[in-house]
Amino acid sequence: MARVDCNHIRHAYGPNPKSDKDFALKEVHQVFEDGGAYALLGPSGCGKTTLLNIISGLLHPSHGQLLFNGRDVTNLSTQERNIAQVFQFPVIYDTMTVYDNLAFPLRNRGVPEADVDRKVRETLDMIDLASWAKKKARGLTADQKQKISLGRGLVRSDVNAILFDEPLTVIDPHMKWVLRSQLKQLHRRFGYTMVYVTHDQTEALTFAERVVVMYDGEIVQIGTPAELFERPRHTFVGYFIGSPGMNVMPVAIDGKTATLGSQRIELPGAPQTATGPIELGIRPEYVRLGREGMAVKVSKVEDVGRHKVVRANLEGREIAAVIGEDETVPAEPKVRFEPTRINIYADSWRVEMGA
Ligand code: ADP
Ligand code: MG
Repeated sequence: MARVDCNHIRHAYGPNPKSDKDFALKEVHQVFEDGGAYALLGPSGCGKTTLLNIISGLLHPSHGQLLFNGRDVTNLSTQERNIAQVFQFPVIYDTMTVYDNLAFPLRNRGVPEADVDRKVRETLDMIDLASWAKKKARGLTADQKQKISLGRGLVRSDVNAILFDEPLTVIDPHMKWVLRSQLKQLHRRFGYTMVYVTHDQTEALTFAERVVVMYDGEIVQIGTPAELFERPRHTFVGYFIGSPGMNVMPVAIDGKTATLGSQRIELPGAPQTATGPIELGIRPEYVRLGREGMAVKVSKVEDVGRHKVVRANLEGREIAAVIGEDETVPAEPKVRFEPTRINIYADSWRVEMGA
């Protein structure tokens, strides 16, 4: 397994890129530590597949450098980089048996037949496909085929990294859950360097130790699920992670006080001076709904299982608050923001608060 360094990677698909908007990847400077389990999370079109294909060598970046354990591999082929990649849709040989599909990548690298047999059987067991070993792949369903694709990725334990590009898209929800936890166990057992691409936050947060959030061709934050939740570095991370996402509202700042319309909100510290539009971010979980604080007009209460989401109007804009399933909205409701949970943003980027 290897440590993977992406050094100032930029990529444009078209010829003669002029401005940033011509680049699918604007500037990616990121280390994937040896043995780390990373989720690469972001909306469709933000550049996840582009980055993955650059790491595996399917795509050559317009600018920048790729290192495996400090060695420059930018100009090496996929084969030479020794990477396993699992794609969104099954990539298997229909005319081969399930067994031979898994054996193929090993035989292709000249692994002795006895080792091939051991590895293939082990992997088939792992993904519960042992009973299908002799079946031809042709007759299988899409999600069965995708499991074989996963098996083909996992069968080689000598790879520098395993890359997964939304591999569970075609898998049914229950099986998804099973496979995800199996992948996690595999990571614990073998210490693979894994990068797992998804646009689904639940999938990212349950799979990875570190989540890399991408937005519009850039990495905007890397952190543990808790860090992303508590301290989103960019308002986009706040919206994208959590359900509902973070409330973000324009404010004016004076020392330790934020002003929102006619309301004054005390902050735990004075935000650093910063330029650009200033906004306050607060998670719905940290908006206290009760009889104290700022008056709101409640427009909707949604029961979403273990809690309720209250939509209310505060100073002319909609905010969300989360309350317990047994709680009710009081008459003349008011809201308070938990001061230590407030984040302040300048031009969409989080600013530190001083004393
Ligand atoms: P994601 O995997 O996050 O959905 P992609 O990496 O596939 O995003 O795409 C990033 C951007 O690059 C998108 O704007 C997409 O339209 C563009 N793009 C992707 N592949 C190609 C291609 N082969 N040719 C031209 N543009 C592409
Ligand atoms: Mg993609």
